[in-house]
Amino acid sequence: MRLGIDLDGVVADFNSGWIRFYNRDFHATVTEDQITHWNIIPELTHFATMDEFWEWSLDLDGATLFRHLDPYPGAIEAALRLAESHDLAVITAKPASARADTMEWLAEHGFPTDEVHITGIHSPDAKPKVLADAYLDDGPYVLPHLVAERPEAAVHRFVRRWNSPVPGATDVHDWSEFEASVRRLASSREDGFHR
Ligand SMILES: [Mg+2]
Repeated sequence: MRLGIDLDGVVADFNSGWIRFYNRDFHATVTEDQITHWNIIPELTHFATMDEFWEWSLDLDGATLFRHLDPYPGAIEAALRLAESHDLAVITAKPASARADTMEWLAEHGFPTDEVHITGIHSPDAKPKVLADAYLDDGPYVLPHLVAERPEAAVHRFVRRWNSPVPGATDVHDWSEFEASVRRLASSREDGFHR
């Protein structure tokens, strides 16, 4: 199968990354458990808008924030296991100026993909244009578009504090649940094929 995999909030720990730099640069005390909904950053910081935040995020220690993020524990290993039987396509929304850093990050961490799609941060409807049999995403504004525009695909919500159930999407709480769901999908397709 072909799996469409989001990066931030799924493979890359975006929140711990920006909080680490923000607290360091502005002597702030933001904590990860304060991230309770999408686009909450202006409420927790001095940035008036997300655009101001994005602007700051593009030059941190000589690279964009995205270059500095840590992978979630176990995410790369799970992707490597999935890639033994499936094709992984990265589908990630980023500022255009983070393109090179995204590629470098994927290379540094050995993410198993031949295909990277970088969609704009202001177009949550762009991800469904990349076809996949199954999607994994944490974005509350992205998931409904995937469900609506790819009804034939299995859309998975990576359950996070900043999203909530989306009708038509399957919830997974961690990578092993996603792997199990992909295994079930793959074997039901095999059954259908042989029937
Ligand atoms: Mg995401």
